[in-house]
Amino acid sequence: MGADSGKAIDAGRCPLCGGGNGCGSVAKASTGSCWCVDEKFPPTLFELLPEGTRNQACICQACLKAHTAE
Ligand SMILES: [Zn+2]
Repeated sequence: MGADSGKAIDAGRCPLCGGGNGCGSVAKASTGSCWCVDEKFPPTLFELLPEGTRNQACICQACLKAHTAE
């Protein structure tokens, strides 16, 4: 709800497709772990993210797979 930020960053949504990213860290699972912990996110994937969204929200599995499948 920042007044000077255009879009509020929703940590539960993928910054690429806007879908839920299912991040366990966001859901505050009792384990404290998340599927993304065991995944490798290529640096090129983060380059696709709009400025200001990096490290704000996780990328979802669908986008990760779509990017790494090429
Ligand atoms: Zn996505």
